[in-house]
Amino acid sequence: MTLSDDDLYRYARQLILNGMTETHQQRLLDAHILLVGAGGLGAPALLYMAAAGIGHITVMDGDVVDATNLNRQICFTAEDIGKPKASTAAEAARKCNPALTITAIDEWLDHDAVDQIISKDMIVADATDQAATRVLINQACHDHGAVMVFAGASRFEGQIASFRSGLDTEMPCFSCLFPDISGTSQIPRCSEVGILGPITGMIGSLMAMEVMRQCLWPDQVFGRNLSGQLMLYDGLDHHMQTITVNKRPDCPVCSSRPSH
Ligand SMILES: [Zn+2]
Repeated sequence: MTLSDDDLYRYARQLILNGMTETHQQRLLDAHILLVGAGGLGAPALLYMAAAGIGHITVMDGDVVDATNLNRQICFTAEDIGKPKASTAAEAARKCNPALTITAIDEWLDHDAVDQIISKDMIVADATDQAATRVLINQACHDHGAVMVFAGASRFEGQIASFRSGLDTEMPCFSCLFPDISGTSQIPRCSEVGILGPITGMIGSLMAMEVMRQCLWPDQVFGRNLSGQLMLYDGLDHHMQTITVNKRPDCPVCSSRPSH
């Protein structure tokens, strides 16, 4: 399969990167990403994924745009206040790259829908700030053999990791990293503790890059991915570190074999 002339031109700057081939670009175009959350992390992640040519992106979010979102949720404008986030974000991404298939679901991901939406070999970008949704995504990704790319940000700091426990039984999952987080846990929310916009821009951009790495796995065109690794960024100290996530033998999620 060869890329069209339009695609060769549009993606020219990334196609000339060391190790990048037309086959890799085609794999990005063939990928299907579920982006859960079109907020501070989801907005830049979505725009960069669309710009890079991730061919099919489904965006889910049950919220509407508020003026307090605009310090960081850069796919929205003042004219979008009051509009549903998922469809509005999807429209912004389509304007960037009209050739892609970008689908919007203006609802939160819940128990009823998760097993219909998450399927094998999908990459799920978890850009929510809700513990219950993160737990749900982790379980579904493990059960169905999907990859979970997790990111979070608050105040001046952010974090990102990937989990492939549903594809590789040696690998840890989100619950191995945060065993105390359950569906009823409360994660500090930006509305309560604050958030500096560029922090979400940075972590959201890293999220798009990690999704691209996972699309091209096992080729490491953009470096090694963060499977089983947690990258932490402290914006006050300009400090970034990556730590290994150990698999917990008693993990209630990934100690059992995936059901797919
Ligand atoms: Zn686990």
